[in-house]
Amino acid sequence: MRFSKMYVPTLKEAPGDAEVISHKLLVRAGMIRKLTSGIYTFLPLGLRSLNKVAAIVREEMERAGAQEIFMPSVQPGDLWKETGRWEFYGKELLRFQDRNGRDYCLGPTHEEVVTDLLRGEVKSYRQLPINVFQIQTKFRDEIRPRFGLMRGREFLMKDGYSFDADDAGADESYKGMFEAYKRIFSRLGMRFRPVDADSGSIGGSFSHEFMVLADTGEDTIAVCHGCEYSANLEKAVVRCGQPACTAECPAIEEVATPGKHTVEEVAEFLGVPAERLVKTLLYVVDGAPVAVLVRGDRELNEVKLKNALGAQEEPVMASPEQVVAWTGAPVGFAGPVGLKVERILADNELLAANDYVAGANKAETHILHLDLARDAKIETFTDLRMITESDPCPVCGGRIELTKGIEVGHVFKLGTKYSKSMNATFLDENGKEQTMIMGCYGIGVSRVVAACIEQNHDEDGIAFPPPIAPFEAVVLCLDPRKEDILGKAEEIYGMLRSWGMDVLLDDRDERPGVKFKDADLIGMPMQIVVGGKGLKNGIVEVKDRRSGEKSELSIENLERELL
Ligand code: ATP
Ligand code: MG
Ligand code: MG
Ligand code: MG
Repeated sequence: MRFSKMYVPTLKEAPGDAEVISHKLLVRAGMIRKLTSGIYTFLPLGLRSLNKVAAIVREEMERAGAQEIFMPSVQPGDLWKETGRWEFYGKELLRFQDRNGRDYCLGPTHEEVVTDLLRGEVKSYRQLPINVFQIQTKFRDEIRPRFGLMRGREFLMKDGYSFDADDAGADESYKGMFEAYKRIFSRLGMRFRPVDADSGSIGGSFSHEFMVLADTGEDTIAVCHGCEYSANLEKAVVRCGQPACTAECPAIEEVATPGKHTVEEVAEFLGVPAERLVKTLLYVVDGAPVAVLVRGDRELNEVKLKNALGAQEEPVMASPEQVVAWTGAPVGFAGPVGLKVERILADNELLAANDYVAGANKAETHILHLDLARDAKIETFTDLRMITESDPCPVCGGRIELTKGIEVGHVFKLGTKYSKSMNATFLDENGKEQTMIMGCYGIGVSRVVAACIEQNHDEDGIAFPPPIAPFEAVVLCLDPRKEDILGKAEEIYGMLRSWGMDVLLDDRDERPGVKFKDADLIGMPMQIVVGGKGLKNGIVEVKDRRSGEKSELSIENLERELL
């Protein structure tokens, strides 16, 4: 590819709304452009990187036995009503109606569609297991789209789904995908870690996230230095260890066992539909409710909690830092279960903060001042809490470190959550009807490109690892007006291509300084500089973008020296 023929609008300045480095550099390097909030166009360079990530994902999925399909992005609301997620998914689900007044949504994920695809047609255990995947555009109307490709509203995801006849088979499928993910992120050249994770609004029995380690990550993960233990902070729970907080404490049982207050009971108490509540806990003191945890959509949290508990004040939004300042608690204090009673502010008032404080990972925190006309033994409610760096590792007792991560992949064992509500059944070898056991497996393909830049950049720009770089090398022709120099640059360009390398030839009529700057900004791993001075001596300068190391190589021996 010739730079002169390519649309690569590089910029000196990053746009004002770009907060993180990957967003700044993707725009400055002419890889993406914003259409509107959270929605981006991939320009030629950006698309090359995106396609490279997708190609590796595709190869490894196929190697692991998954088959590629392509499902529609417009999904009928009726399917989502079957699983209850039409109600529950909240405002991230972009809904609309067709001309006949039928409900539709833009797919944020495809459990409903893929389950609908296979139910009815897969009838026998002999047809199982089935493992399918697609690489497809998703839409989630994120409450706060930001950070460019990291949290877009429209983004590219690889989503895969497995269907098994029994639990052991489902575990095998899960393991297969887990291993495939390790291969994918290793091949992409990322520093990553699989962590224990919460299954969130996808639900299911257990799950792991693949976290790319980077300071700009929105998730906090607890990593042990002594063993393999690592978990999303949302999931990294320890007992607080205070004397009042033993597991036997009846008050804790009351609080920590959702079974004592079923979702339906809490829903009735709140006066909201039960299917909107994922996790619910009723905090009870002396048989009377003092606080309720609701993890549904956020509006629901604010409004209903306020009404149900007779809050005196409007709920306010605050940053995690503010919460920490107000409560004097270390970051990571709040419970994993959402609303957490933190401390008494006055005799009849307590401060409650929800779980988003804990990881400080979801940007905003809801604080509710609740009216509490009891003399409650609040200490007993601090039993379960997030792990901190001063806690020993729950597995080996080793040192725990809290670090930031970007979630690039997520594997879930779903069990029968979707197959049950949608009647995806088959006949087993005894002719008995059984429900399929499902798993689902996502990778944020476009987020991977951004996460890669978060890990690989310096003050001059991006320093792509070869697997994700738009080109593996760039040949900089310093003076394309001089025929001999352009001729030599083209010869080298052709030679590298004949070796199977993916190369860009910067043949633009621009000053050398501009070319050096752009090459550093865009971040191709290898730069080969062809200029008049070197040519006289039969040499080119080769620069390794990441280390900055330069070497002079004789053109004659280029093949031997480069390969
Ligand atoms: P997050 O916690 O960051 O909101 P999620 O848990 O909602 O992500 P999943 O439902 O697990 O996301 O989706 C699978 C993958 O899709 C994620 O691991 C992530 O890499 C990617 N992804 C999710 N939301 C976005 C987004 N808004 N923009 C870009 N990629 C995303
Ligand atoms: Mg999300
Ligand atoms: Mg997540
Ligand atoms: Mg996830």
